[in-house]
Amino acid sequence: MSAQLAIDGGKPVREDPFPSRAAGVGDEEMAQLADVIKAGQMNRVGGQKTKLLEEGFAKLIGMKHAVAVTSGTAALHTALGAINPDPGDEVITTPVTDIGTVIGILFQNCIPIFADTDPKYGYNLDPESVRKNITDRTRAIIVVHLWGAAADMDEFLAIGKEHGIPVIEDCAQAYLTEYKGKLAGTMGDVGCFSLQSSKHMTCGDGGLVVSNNDDLIRRARLFCDKGWDRSAETYRAYPFLGINYRITELQSAVGVAQLGKVEWVVARRRELGDMLSGKLSGIPGLLPPPDSATSGNVYWLYAIRVREEEFGMSRKRFIEALNAEGIPGFALFDDKPLHLREMLLEQRTFGKSHHPFDCACASRRVKYAPGLCPNAEQSVKELVTVGLHEFCSEREVEDTAAAIQKIAAAAKA
Ligand SMILES: *Cc1c(COP(=O)(O)O)cnc(C)c1O
Repeated sequence: MSAQLAIDGGKPVREDPFPSRAAGVGDEEMAQLADVIKAGQMNRVGGQKTKLLEEGFAKLIGMKHAVAVTSGTAALHTALGAINPDPGDEVITTPVTDIGTVIGILFQNCIPIFADTDPKYGYNLDPESVRKNITDRTRAIIVVHLWGAAADMDEFLAIGKEHGIPVIEDCAQAYLTEYKGKLAGTMGDVGCFSLQSSKHMTCGDGGLVVSNNDDLIRRARLFCDKGWDRSAETYRAYPFLGINYRITELQSAVGVAQLGKVEWVVARRRELGDMLSGKLSGIPGLLPPPDSATSGNVYWLYAIRVREEEFGMSRKRFIEALNAEGIPGFALFDDKPLHLREMLLEQRTFGKSHHPFDCACASRRVKYAPGLCPNAEQSVKELVTVGLHEFCSEREVEDTAAAIQKIAAAAKA
């Protein structure tokens, strides 16, 4: 007989709240910030902290250059600005990601082309689908390592090479994610990271662009700094159109302190995430994420796929039951991937136009509809994320596993 679920009036697995992540910032960040205030130098130009953040991050992941900007969205936009596509060019990416992956494509007057995700897990891009979506207008591929599990980079790099298309890695959730001995962000032409507050390292909001390509980095630095060439005699030559995505010294100071913690954060999350997967294997209808050994997973969030029919319960009820047991869990993308969200479905972009979708610069009229990416559409309906993080302990892992096992037993009963 299965135990009565808390949602049906039974005793919950856990009654006290989960630990908070707020402990992740403290004295180290305060000391770095105090330096900036004391120096009275808050702008990055002439300051030290942004330089330290850029050099420190580049060193951490073994890259030649890093450029700090105001957000992960800004980092991705800057990467595209550096690549400099023509208006109407196409950029292939996944519909299972943060909207920040797509925003820069549109602001750079390019058309997002959504390829489908892999059939098993349903969140990282399927190389075959990317291949099918290549046209003579494809100008970049943005690969996302969702949840911190590595996408199949060998395949994407091969496609990029074959067609002469740059590959951008969106590593917002993938700090120190490993793929065949290499780190996420170091394999493609450009890597982009987010320092937003939910990410493995944070300064509230911020972003990083990394590359070994001197020319791309030169363009990236100009692009995010209003086209100001800091190495030239006159800044105001404006060689091309840029924007202001300059990070402040205040943000960078916090980022510098966080740099010293991210390896610990990642190691701890790997340990806890793998531990939870070990306890959840073999439950019918429930697919834990790939572990850190197979996918380099750094568990930004711990994502489970719940196949309703096989599991014996709807995802909605699973989440309600989980929360009632005292375990935080939610459906991050609700039930829709990006291409079925209003802005993209209705192409609500600039004024009365649908620019760049309806631009004469485009070589075809792209529209999105249900059925475009069947694996992605199915997987977002099944995904449940659990917020295990570095301040959790074995007890939170045990409670999460116990609650899920309890729900699974009741679902079968
Ligand atoms: C967070 C995130 C972004 C955007 O980063 P912001 O700093 O919030 O702008 C982009 N892509 C992915 C996969 C993300 O998780």
